[in-house]
Amino acid sequence: MTPLLDVRGLTKHYAGPHGRVLHALEDVSFTVAAGEALGVVGESGCGKSTLGKSLLRLVEPTAGEVLFEGEDVLPLSRRAMAAKRRDMQMVFQDPFGSLNPRHSVGTIVGEPLAIHGMPGGKARVAELLDQVGLPADAAGRYPHEFSGGQRQRVAIARALALGPKLLVADEPVSALDVSIQSQIINLIGDLRRAYGLAMIFISHDLSVIRHVSDRIAVMYLGRIVEIGPAAQVFEAPAHPYTRALLSAVPRRPGAAQPRERIILHGDLPDPSSPPPGCAFHGRCPAAMPRCSVEPPELVSRHVAETGGTAIAACHLHEHADAPALEPA
Ligand code: SF4
Ligand code: MG
Repeated sequence: MTPLLDVRGLTKHYAGPHGRVLHALEDVSFTVAAGEALGVVGESGCGKSTLGKSLLRLVEPTAGEVLFEGEDVLPLSRRAMAAKRRDMQMVFQDPFGSLNPRHSVGTIVGEPLAIHGMPGGKARVAELLDQVGLPADAAGRYPHEFSGGQRQRVAIARALALGPKLLVADEPVSALDVSIQSQIINLIGDLRRAYGLAMIFISHDLSVIRHVSDRIAVMYLGRIVEIGPAAQVFEAPAHPYTRALLSAVPRRPGAAQPRERIILHGDLPDPSSPPPGCAFHGRCPAAMPRCSVEPPELVSRHVAETGGTAIAACHLHEHADAPALEPA
């Protein structure tokens, strides 16, 4: 079956100062099925936001394909792409910056309907506000009258107005108080089920990702270094970087033993001069001599312990069954 989204070799290079080239995204491939939630995790600067924006062409990728329902959206005209955005919507980290302060909430939520000439008007706006847990009188009020969590509810209502098939959420709770984060995460989960929405949920925080993802992709320096079912990635991480990220996340209550904390030294390398070999080698506790020379490929491997398939780019992840052309 054709996946809802099929991303192939997506690459984004930015021109940097002094003729340098920033490798923000490098050969990223994955699929998302209809109704599926893919969590994308990695440190700040690893390319997660560039990935989200590239899918909707809010930045223009340098190379690759973004097949949505089998059609590559990258060659589409601006007009055709604008029409596609009925089906592909995005929610951002900063719910204040993404809402026009001079427009009422009713105008903001109703704007996509007006732009796309969709019927419904005020009644549809009231329905959307109700679905995101805002009072009906919110329509006549302005963004500054609301808390951060409520503003994110407004942004979510606007994103859902056109009944999209895919929602890209880029750090949607990172700017919110911890006490509010779980409310918004639960809301997104409920709406996703109600609308049968597929989602790409981007976060630097694995403990957030865990609650919303069917599968998880781990990014490092513009590349996916591991991808797999959420339980598999959490219980049997295959890549040393994933293990390090996970070691900072508290285990579920009742887990047999706590994870040993793996502290990573150093920062993300400069994306304008990615290290040779495995980009993680300078920080990897398991690095071997070949790691600084030979770039590891993403390969899939059967994991006896879980009965599942782990897909990772690491020389330790050897004895691979086959190249990972199609992520599981
Ligand atoms: Fe570490 Fe080498 Fe694996 Fe890279 S390829 S993650 S440096 S062991
Ligand atoms: Mg970001």
